[in-house]
Amino acid sequence: MLCPYCQNPNTRVVDKRDNNGQTKRRRECGKCEKRFNTFENVEKAQLRVIKKDGRRENFDSDKIKRGVIRAREKRPVSTETIDKMMMNVEEKLRKSGKKDVNSTFIGELVSRELKKEDKVAYIRFASVYREFEDISDFKKEIKEL
Ligand SMILES: [Zn+2]
Repeated sequence: MLCPYCQNPNTRVVDKRDNNGQTKRRRECGKCEKRFNTFENVEKAQLRVIKKDGRRENFDSDKIKRGVIRAREKRPVSTETIDKMMMNVEEKLRKSGKKDVNSTFIGELVSRELKKEDKVAYIRFASVYREFEDISDFKKEIKEL
């Protein structure tokens, strides 16, 4: 690890912290004595999403998040809660051990998370991702709440 200030390769670790699978090291340069941080992460395999039409794309939690944010408009679901939901969903996807996941499966996981937080936001989200065809689909879903 080169010192970012003077490029000296001789640095020592003065502090180390583990946080959410990430290791942060505080280092001190042996020459100019300036301190800097380094971060170490586990490399995560890229998840792929199989869309309804069979096409595949890289898993993008921001894209799903945008859908959730639309669904929770004017509802009491905080951004913090949404971030937590996204983490839960991604964790479940990774635990499933599959690299390619169906978009409907992801939609189902997100719905389940939303259902716990806010029923209205859940219905809105479900109506988009399940492509409710008519009002009877809605009624059926609402009945099951
Ligand atoms: Zn230095």
